[in-house]
Amino acid sequence: METDVLSCEGIYKNIHRKPIIKGISFNIKQGEILGFIGPNGAGKTTTIKLIIGLQKLSKGTIKINGFNVEDNFEKAIEKVGTIVENPDLYMYLSGYDNLKLVSNLYKGITKSRIDEVVKLVGLENRIKDKVSKYSLGMRQRLGIAQAILHKPNLLILDEPTNGLDPEGMKQVRELIAKLAKEEKMAVMISSHNLAEIENVCNKICILQNGEIVEQSNLEDIKKEVSKGEYVVEVDNPQKVKEILNCEIQGEKALIKATRDEIPEIISKLVKNNIRLYSVTENISSLEEAFLKKTGGNKIE
Ligand code: ATP
Repeated sequence: METDVLSCEGIYKNIHRKPIIKGISFNIKQGEILGFIGPNGAGKTTTIKLIIGLQKLSKGTIKINGFNVEDNFEKAIEKVGTIVENPDLYMYLSGYDNLKLVSNLYKGITKSRIDEVVKLVGLENRIKDKVSKYSLGMRQRLGIAQAILHKPNLLILDEPTNGLDPEGMKQVRELIAKLAKEEKMAVMISSHNLAEIENVCNKICILQNGEIVEQSNLEDIKKEVSKGEYVVEVDNPQKVKEILNCEIQGEKALIKATRDEIPEIISKLVKNNIRLYSVTENISSLEEAFLKKTGGNKIE
C-alpha cells in the first residue's frame, strides 16, 4: 500500500485558549496535490505552521514521511519544501544569487542541481536578472525553486497564486502540476479561492472555522457536477422548443437528457432542418458542486 507523505490525525490548536483548529484529519500521498481551501481566518496558515513546526500542536499527530513532527522534528522536516506567506527574496540580487544563498543552507547542493531547478521552474532566460525586475509570477516561481533545491518530496505552498495575474497563475499552476507528475512530489496548496486552483488539484479539503467541512477526491466530485443537461446552439431555438419542449436561453436550447439520448436528439433536430452549431454538457463549477454538497455554505 502506498504510504502517506503527510498525515494529520485529529489535530487541534488553541491560541490564547481559543480553539482555532478543531480536530482535523487529512493526508497526502506521493504525486498527489491537495487543495486546502477556506475563507480568510479559517485556519489554513495555522495548520501549515503546525505541519512545519512553527507552532506547537495542542492535540493530535502530524507525521511526515512516517516521522512524527513533535518527536522527531529534524527527520520529519528534512524532505519538506515550503513557502509560507511570501517567498523570502533579495530584490537587489539576481535570481541565481538568491538560489545560491539558499543552497548554502544545505549540504551538497551542486551547481548542476541549481541549473536543473532553474530549468524546472522555467526561469533559465531571466535567472541572471535582478529579482526587482521580475513579475510577481516569476518571483513566486523563484520562491518555489528555492523551496525545492534540496529535493523535498513534500511541497507546502500558502496561497501561491495570491495577487498573480491570470498568466502568472497559470504558470504557477503548471509548475505545481509538473512537480507532482515528474518529480513525484506530494503538494499541499492553501487558497481562499477554489476556482483559482481547482484544475491542478486531485484532492480538496474545505476548511471553515477550524473544521474540515468537506473532503473529497476530485474524481468523486466530478461525478456530481453533471447537471444532466446539454446546451445546444441552434439557428432556430423557438422551433427546438416546440419539438423538444425544452428551455431556451438566447440562441441556445437547454435540453435535459442523458449522454446516450443525445445522438437521437441531434438526428431529430437535423431531420427538422434545424442548424446545429454546438452541443456541450452543462456542468457546474467545482465551487457550485461543493456548495450543493455543503448545503449552500459559501466558501468565501
Ligand atoms: P488567511 O487566508 O487570512 O491567511 P487563514 O485561513 O490562513 O486565513 P489563520 O491565519 O490560520 O487563517 O487564522 C485562523 C484564526 O486564528 C483567525 O481567526 C486568526 O485571527 C486566529 N489567529 C491566528 N494566529 C493567531 C495569534 N497568534 N493570536 C490570536 N489569534 C490568532
